[in-house]
Amino acid sequence: MNSLITELRSICAAKAVLTEPADMAPFETDWRKIYKNPALCVVLPADTAQVADVVRACAAAGVPVVPQGGNTGLVAGGVPGAGQKPVILSLRRMTKIRALDTTGDTITVEAGATLQAVQDAAAEAGKLFPVSYAAEGTAQIGGIISTNAGGMQVLSYGSVRAQVLGLEVVLADGRIWNGLRALRKDNTGFDLKQVFIGAEGTLGVVTAAVLRLYPAVRERATALVGVASLEASLEIFAALRRRAGAALTMCEFFTRAAMDLALAHIPGGKLPCDAPAYLLAEISAHTKGERVDETLLEALESVLETGSATDAVVAQSVRERADLIRIRETIPEGELVEGGAVKHDIAVPIGEIPATVRAIEEMVAQDYPAFRLNIFGHVGDGNLHVNVRPPAGQSLADIAAQKAAITEKVEAIAVARAGSFSAEHGIGQMRLSGMAAHKSAVELDLMRAMKHALDPLGILNPGKVIPVA
Ligand SMILES: Cc1cc2nc3c(=O)[nH]c(=O)nc-3n(C[C@H](O)[C@H](O)[C@H](O)COP(=O)(O)OP(=O)(O)OC[C@H]3O[C@@H](n4cnc5c(N)ncnc54)[C@H](O)[C@@H]3O)c2cc1C
Repeated sequence: MNSLITELRSICAAKAVLTEPADMAPFETDWRKIYKNPALCVVLPADTAQVADVVRACAAAGVPVVPQGGNTGLVAGGVPGAGQKPVILSLRRMTKIRALDTTGDTITVEAGATLQAVQDAAAEAGKLFPVSYAAEGTAQIGGIISTNAGGMQVLSYGSVRAQVLGLEVVLADGRIWNGLRALRKDNTGFDLKQVFIGAEGTLGVVTAAVLRLYPAVRERATALVGVASLEASLEIFAALRRRAGAALTMCEFFTRAAMDLALAHIPGGKLPCDAPAYLLAEISAHTKGERVDETLLEALESVLETGSATDAVVAQSVRERADLIRIRETIPEGELVEGGAVKHDIAVPIGEIPATVRAIEEMVAQDYPAFRLNIFGHVGDGNLHVNVRPPAGQSLADIAAQKAAITEKVEAIAVARAGSFSAEHGIGQMRLSGMAAHKSAVELDLMRAMKHALDPLGILNPGKVIPVA
């Protein structure tokens, strides 16, 4: 293995290959600090040619490669599995914006650029890159593509898959596929980029991408709405959608428990309105002067009249909008600081949300009466983060023996309602049991065939996404 490290140093320069335990530790541990397995080394290539040479060298040595972006993934896909001692290939030095086309509305960017950097570059050019969520300052373009991330504006713009026009990918044998096309129409055989989007680094290493941009948002109206019940949240969503159509760009749901968890971790955080649950809704327009505020108020009046909404706070300034968004974005962090949870990322048809939440609440009340539920998510996408927190005073380690059964039950409730056990976070190491339980034999066969075709030696992120046969 020393000879591989020497070779990697000759490819990327000595200081770009980390071997000291203290230097490697942050790369070896996942964001939730649950998975920690040793790597052989961490390599930080500077360009695509170096990535290709690193992958080729690892393939020749038979050493697995774990691609890593910002390491904010929530299913431990970007950190080593047990007993592997892989090379972690971090894209963090590859941050160049190669091109920005304000006529074609595209940006061509290297995989290590953060989501925030791409949003900022788009904004400077008077454009919008619409993918947005709490980890945007750290999550990287290669990571968001490889997890097909969602976020708070999928409702209007779609997930990351919908934003990708072209990709550059280093394949498992070290060849470079240049698919950096900035085309909206291209029916020239199989759409190869789709294979790598959401593949979590198991089929290739994404080194650059052409992403779609949109006109900048010129008007915004944002409200936090207190909702009377789960059914009421769907009525409010439908009323907002009826009035605003595709201009409804955000509709996030969270329970009162989630609100309290967030407020406890926002200095000076105050309860904006008292309710059993909340929707955070935003209507946006790309043209100046469009009265999105009136549209929002009309929709809110109608749902306050019917009693679906119990109260509403409309942001009167950029600062007030940021404060409302901050509440939603602080929920995951607040939960982590409070000791974490058994986390789930389910999707169901939107109309099934009330029945799904109720079934989960009943299951937890019956089987785990002292446990606490923290539910939040993207109501317009039918995507709920159902997080089961340990009883007060206990840690995740204390409930380790119950974790698998809790997950099995939550995922089964979603799947029984024609839902998914993984909506936007992916599979990584954490959701392999769901793959084995809920994917059909045909689907798993097809995935294994694709993996074998693209990575016959099995060196790219082994032990992730596809369960062992
Ligand atoms: C506070 C917080 C909030 C979040 N909110 C949301 C949300 O609202 N919606 C949502 O969808 N997700 C959310 N996420 C999770 C989201 O999946 C990740 O933030 C992001 O998609 C991963 O980006 P990353 O660069 O950190 O990738 P990493 O965590 O480093 O890697 C993720 C996966 O992609 C692979 N990978 C990384 N880079 C490459 C590459 N260049 N080529 C090939 N494979 C690669 C890794 O091997 C791994 O399997 C949240 C995470 C946090 C911490």
